[in-house]
Amino acid sequence: DNPAMSSISSSHADVYRGRFAPSPTGPLHAGSLVAALASWLDARAHGGEWLVRIEDVDSARCTPAAAQRILQQLAACGLHCDAPPVWQSQRRSAYQGALQELIDKKWAYACACSRKEIEAHLRQKGLHKVRNSALVYPGTCRNGTQGAIAHTWRMRTQAPSVRWSDRRLGPQQQDVEVEVGDFVLLRADACFSYQLAVIVDDAAQRITHVVRGEDLADNTARQILLQRALGLPTPQYLHTSLVRNMHGEKLSKQNGAPALDTSGPAAALSALEQAAAVLGLQKNSDNSKAYETIEQALALWIGIWRSLYCI
Ligand code: GLU
Repeated sequence: DNPAMSSISSSHADVYRGRFAPSPTGPLHAGSLVAALASWLDARAHGGEWLVRIEDVDSARCTPAAAQRILQQLAACGLHCDAPPVWQSQRRSAYQGALQELIDKKWAYACACSRKEIEAHLRQKGLHKVRNSALVYPGTCRNGTQGAIAHTWRMRTQAPSVRWSDRRLGPQQQDVEVEVGDFVLLRADACFSYQLAVIVDDAAQRITHVVRGEDLADNTARQILLQRALGLPTPQYLHTSLVRNMHGEKLSKQNGAPALDTSGPAAALSALEQAAAVLGLQKNSDNSKAYETIEQALALWIGIWRSLYCI
């Protein structure tokens, strides 16, 4: 045990660092504002720092214009970050380094399977298990590609079930090998996967607390496997409830969520009120408001958030 090292890590652990990590495939909508507001409130309630990371690793789907729009919308909502945003499109060499380390440690392996081949293999085995439209990889290339040309890299998921505790959802468990399979780290289109990029950046930015939408909870076990393989710390996680449309589906750009109206303070405040209602911080029907401005509303919600989640 090195006393100098342990004092460094414990002093780091004292500094709360949270983040909001939008993918700029379009402007903020009511759903993504919930994640932004929740992560901001959690950071402020802890007296910590709040960072913004633009997750534009998938360059075909992301645009700089959408990223700029998101940053403007956050500012209009009074959600100011404590450091300039980090852009994933500028961090390829960090992801490459992490991938190389996983290859060297034999956690990552090259894969030559196409989606069609994976589907055919699963059908043959009588398993056509589809998970969030992703196929559970049957492990075909685990022991080499048998001369076929590899175009992706995958993470070997042989490990006991991952257990973790979510600050809102409570104890969680996932057998990643059975439920997800060996997942992609570097895609055939040469983009690094969300899973790899997010853990490399959470560690590089020394994020201690991740607050994001419940739809992402399912990724956490994969991210913990990667953190363990690379010897990185695991942050605490809190997954918020989601905004749903009238069919009960999660609101998303794909199912037509409209861009948030943040054209003036009144519009921004009303967008924030809806997000606060989803987080259980206030009732939509509440007419007797204890605030007038965005800053006053945010200050009120910090206190309520603290009483709910920071005990
Ligand atoms: N970029 C991801 C998204 O917008 C969120 C990543 C995260 O918070 O871990 O869905």
